[in-house]
Amino acid sequence: MTTRRLFLMMVPVTGAAFAAACSKQEEPAAAAPAPAPAPAPAEPPAAAAPAPAAPEAAPAAAGPMVEATDPTAVALGYVAVAANADKAKYPNFVDGSNCANCALYQGAAGSEAGPCPLFAGKQVAAAGWCASWVKKTT
Ligand code: SF4
Repeated sequence: MTTRRLFLMMVPVTGAAFAAACSKQEEPAAAAPAPAPAPAPAEPPAAAAPAPAAPEAAPAAAGPMVEATDPTAVALGYVAVAANADKAKYPNFVDGSNCANCALYQGAAGSEAGPCPLFAGKQVAAAGWCASWVKKTT
């Protein structure tokens, strides 16, 4: 066999071996695990946003005055003038008691009338009275 023929026969073999060797060198020598991504820096705590201001309590809307014929008024013996309370029927009546010094009265100090939770949406006279009177402590 001539040298030239031998060379031509060896080229494909050695070429393939060379290519395989080169391709192995391109791969990483050791399959090292990829480094874990650095944890994202913690975000600084957001500045505490100021809490929205609480809505101020809306003043109780003024409503119509409680009528003597109001069923609740009748049931509670409400009168617009405390002195007119039926003291025989309501022996718990205390002299000097009236809506203005009742714990349930929601009218402003010195007002002539104001809301009372027992008469929702209506106003009672500061000078009034009913059987549910409870002495205001403050
Ligand atoms: Fe007046 Fe008090 Fe009776 Fe209300 S509960 S009607 S404020 S006495």
